[in-house]
This record gives sequence, C-alpha cells and structure tokens, in this order.
Amino acid sequence: MGLPFHKLKKLYILYLFLLVFAFFMFAISINLYVSSMQSNGGEGSHPKPPPKRRSLWPHKNIVAHYIGKGDIFGNMTSDDYNMNQFRPVETEGAYGRPVIIPPRDRFRMQRFFRLNSFNILASDRIPLNRTLKDYRTAECRDKKYGSGLPTASVIIVFHNEAWSVLLRTITSVINRSPRHLLKEIILVDDASDRTYLKRQLESYIRVLSVPTHLYRMKKRSGLVPARLMGAEHARGDVLTFLDAHCECSRGWLEPLLARIKESRNVVICPVIDIISDDNFSYTKTFEKHWGAFNWQLSFRWFSSERKRDTNVKDATQPTATPGMAGGLFAIDRKYFYEMGAYDSEMHVWGGENVEMSFRIWQCGGRIEISPCSHVGHVFRSTTPYTFPGGMIDVLTTNLARAATVWMDDWQYFVMLYTQGLSLHVRESVNVTERVALRKKLQCKPFSWYLENIWPEHFFPAPDRFFGKIIWLDGETECAQAYSRHMKNLPGRLLSREWKRAFEEVDSKAEEFTTLIDLERDKCLRPLKESAPRSSLQPVTVGDCTSHAQTMDLFVITPKGQIMTNDNICLTYHEPKQGMIKLLKNRNATTSNVMMTQCTNDSRQLWTYDMDTQQISHRDLKLCLTLKSATNSRSQKTEKVVLTMQCDFKDITQKWGLIPLPWRM
Ligand code: UDP
Ligand code: MN
Repeated sequence: MGLPFHKLKKLYILYLFLLVFAFFMFAISINLYVSSMQSNGGEGSHPKPPPKRRSLWPHKNIVAHYIGKGDIFGNMTSDDYNMNQFRPVETEGAYGRPVIIPPRDRFRMQRFFRLNSFNILASDRIPLNRTLKDYRTAECRDKKYGSGLPTASVIIVFHNEAWSVLLRTITSVINRSPRHLLKEIILVDDASDRTYLKRQLESYIRVLSVPTHLYRMKKRSGLVPARLMGAEHARGDVLTFLDAHCECSRGWLEPLLARIKESRNVVICPVIDIISDDNFSYTKTFEKHWGAFNWQLSFRWFSSERKRDTNVKDATQPTATPGMAGGLFAIDRKYFYEMGAYDSEMHVWGGENVEMSFRIWQCGGRIEISPCSHVGHVFRSTTPYTFPGGMIDVLTTNLARAATVWMDDWQYFVMLYTQGLSLHVRESVNVTERVALRKKLQCKPFSWYLENIWPEHFFPAPDRFFGKIIWLDGETECAQAYSRHMKNLPGRLLSREWKRAFEEVDSKAEEFTTLIDLERDKCLRPLKESAPRSSLQPVTVGDCTSHAQTMDLFVITPKGQIMTNDNICLTYHEPKQGMIKLLKNRNATTSNVMMTQCTNDSRQLWTYDMDTQQISHRDLKLCLTLKSATNSRSQKTEKVVLTMQCDFKDITQKWGLIPLPWRM
C-alpha cells in the first residue's frame, strides 16, 4: 500500500511550495499591518504634544546619526542625489492624511530617507496644494480681524531642500494667505548644490501669483546669515520666517499680523503642528504648549499650566512663552532691526533661538504663541546636511555667544555643565558688538528673566541649592564631615527650613565638595541612565558621576521642589493598580517615588530635617528611604528610593546636600 515514490515527491514539493507561499503572504500582511498602524498615527483626532526640536545633547546621538554628503554618495549616485521624483497622485495626503508607500517601494523609500532625513517618497506623492483640515477652534474661526492689518514678507531660507517639500511650503503660503496681506515671498538659497534648485526653481517661481524673489548666498553660511539676507530685501511691514518644510493651514497669517498691529514689540509664533517625517500626515498639536531651554540650552516644549498674563478668559488670546523654537515666527520689520536683528556671527544652525528669546524678553519685548495660527513643520530626528566647521564646534560657539552676552552669572553654569561647552570656548568668541547692543537697549539682567518670565525654571539661583544629594551611609569622609557639621549646629532641632539648610551647607561648600569621593560616595539619581527624561523614572542611589554629567545634579527650591535638568522633579507617586500592571509589562520596578515632569503641585514638595538629615514628603510626613525592590521581569533586586515611615535611627533615610559651584 501507500503512494509510489514519484507521487510522494510531487506532493512533498507541492507542500513545500505552499508553505513558502503562506510564509510570504504572512510576511506581506504583517508588513502592511505595521505600516497602516504607523500611518494611522496621523489620523488621531486628539492633538499631540509637539516633538522636541532636534536635540543637541548628548553629542553622541548626533554624531552617530549624522549623515554627510560623503556618506550619501557612499551608496547613492550623484543622479540619485539630484533626482526630482515628484509624481503627485490627486488624493494622496488629502486632509493631512498619511501616505502609505506600497511594499514594492519600501526598499527605495528607506534608501532615499537619508537624503533629507524624511520620507521623500511620501512627499513626492502628495500634490503641492493638498487640502488640510481647519485646525482652529470655533472661537478662532469666528474671530474677525478687521481691516488695516500690516503686510507680510514671508522669508524662507533653505539648504538643499527637497523639491516637493519646498514647493508645498510656498504653495501653502500663497493659497492660505489673504492676497492683500502677502506682500511677497522671499527665498534665500544657502548655497545648495542640488541641480533642481538652480534654473528649474527660478523658472518655477517666475509664474507664481505672488511676487517671489530668490536670493542666493555666495557660500554656505547657515540659517542666520541667510535670514538676514532675506530680511534686507523685504519690503512688507512684518517679517514672517518659515522653515522650508512647512505647510500653513487655514487662517494662519491674520492672527500673527493682528497681534503685531496691536503691539509692535511682540514676536509672535504660530502653534507648530507636526508633519510626520515618515508619512507626511499632518497632526494638530496642543495649543497650550510653551517653550524654554534645558541646562544645555536645547529648546524644550512644556505643557504645565501657566498663569496667563491676560486676565480675560479669551481662548483666542496669544500666550507668553519664555522661549521660541526658532523656525517659525513673525516680527515687525523695523522692530527686528531696532532690536539687533540676529547675531550675524552665528553660523549654520543652532543657538539663534536661544539668543533671540533672551534678547527680546530682556530688552523689553515679548514672545508669544497664537493659538489661532497653525502651521505644520516636518520635525526630523537627524540632520541631513553638512556642518561646515564641524557640528560640535559650530554649535558650542553659537551657544557660547548667546550665553556670554545674555546670561550673566548663569553663563558659567551652562559652560560648566554642558559637555563640549567650556570656559575655553567662551574665551574664543568675540561678542563685543552684541554686548554693546545689550547696553544700548538697556536690557534687563538674566535674573529678571528667570524670575519674571520663567518663574517655573529649573536652573540654579542664589536662593536655591545646587549640587548632589548623597546617601549618608556613615562611612565615607564626606558623609562623616557632613553629619558632624549638622550635629553641631545651634538651633538645628527647630529647623525644617530648606533655606536654613542651604545656608549651612553653603558655608561649608568647599570642604564638602573636596571631600566627595566619586568611588565611594553614593548619590541620588535615576535608576536608568539612558531612560528618556520625559517618562516616569524610579530613583536610586548609585555612584556619583564626574563633573560634567548632570544625572545626579539637583536644584532645590526654598519651597521644597527637588528638580533636575529638563524640568524633572522628585515626585511622590503612589502607583495605581493599572500603573503597576503597565510598569510590570514594561519590565520595570515600581516605587512610590518617581522622577517626572515638574508641575508645581504638592506631590512634589519635600522638607529637610537638619537634625536627622531626613528628606520627607511635606504633607505625608513620609521619609525618603533606600530599599531593595524586585524588578518584575528580570526578578533581579534593584535598589530603589521610596518613602517609608520616618525612623531617625534608620541609616537608609539619611541624606546630605553637597553644593557645587555654578557661578564664578
Ligand atoms: N538652513 C539653512 N542653512 C543651514 C542650515 C539650515 O538655510 O546651514 C535652513 C533649513 O533649510 C531650514 C531652516 O534653515 O529651512 C532650519 O533648519 P532645520 O529645519 O534643519 O532646523 P530644525 O527645524 O531641525 O531645527
Ligand atoms: Mn525645520
């Protein structure tokens, strides 16, 4: 019985074939599923927080990702580099929808991504005049701006921008700005070398319905010199700067112009919506975001409630922001020059938004975000272009210029605690002219800016503690000296005031700092070194880090907020059942003390007992304690800081404040 051998063989081959076929179908469907999941991100009806502006620190992130032209040519031809593959399909990307690249083009898509650090294949399928939704609130849509608004010159600078992306920016400006308010569009080419940006671009703009002028930098200079060139040629009342990869949505221009008409010393920014670098979907962001800078002067978005400076409950009113992202804003043309335009010695990219934010506020102006103006921007996670002069050197020089001119005492803090920046870099910059400008405009000190414009800031200050929080296990020299000092203080029994503690440790700062032993002393710090700063992080005690690392550095306010870089605060955070489950799935350790965004609420207020050296939660009266906890997934024990009943004999509850210098 049984089948003859040749039939068996046939069956076997058929079976194999079916197996392979099934496997392929499965792979393709998974691929499609994943990409549809990714692209659905843009469809969500909830506004998203804006992504960070490209983060500059730590350097290794940039250097590792950085793709210069040399590398592109490494596996791309010069034809690839100069090719314009714009082939729009009528409904692609309509209403801000994502573009899904067919599986057959996936490889090509990945190959070409690196040219621009965004998915050019997606952009090349979207018409230049694609429709967008109306992202404004009903109040904004109903708002009437009346006649007599000033006119705008829209200035777009670019270096090697992709054709469809640049032209969609221009098209959206033309189609969504009232013609009588748009004086002109000014393009400045920062010495691009892609061929389509030469004659082809010149003939394209010649026939546009709005006068569009193209100027070219003789050599690659950077966005500041390019914008300065654009501004020189502008004739409109208001300069409106945009990046070359934006899409203006309905009604974007009027609120900006109206605010400047109302008050010419306001620099006004739109809400920056997100155009996905992956599929070019357009996603509305929260209107209530505001911006500022971290310890390394990288721009950051924040979402905590701010006291609004207008008392009217008008949701169309712009809100003040301590910092501007830099790419998209409008400013009165004459005011721009009165205020010193830009620091023309800032090259290529970076630092100019820091400088402008400090300068405008300190010299009597304001920076605001208008909730009624929505403009999309393609946020990229890496830099596609070259950095003549070297990325680190250029960036640190630009930042050193901004810090030296505007930050007074705080410039040293930035130099001391930012890798790559140093007092040495500071010595190498000549900012005489900008210092003279500051004097001429009679600008206020940086302390005024921090106290009045950015009271929630997480920088050190004269009435704050800055330094490390060490665990006083009683053995190290530093811990012993600290405990001895605290024990011998008169009146210590009564004091639970941070201020008093700050004064006491300050008087011994030098001794404590020199006694710290990086090998043996243990510092309060996040459990995971590389975890994203924005997420919930457990806290631990570990090796204290060397000077320029900021992981174990804290600022403590007189009110009792224990803050660190990027607006992160030590928070009492009772894990909810659901949260425990979530964290368990994420392979994490749970604790009731976490590092999370500072919000200025009572969960983030702590007190210090100089007598027992305990840090306790102000309201709950529970003490910060070092304990072992088990990681849910790995089952490894980890040392975690949490709160427990206070016990003055418990060595795991004793903490010392070791101040570090931050100004000269
Ligand atoms: N840009 C320029 N020259 C440079 C660097 C940038 O003209 O050397 C332009 C760039 O094409 C863009 C704008 O300046 O239109 C802002 O740069 P980018 O978008 O890279 O900054 P990001 O938005 O990532 O902060
Ligand atoms: Mn940009």
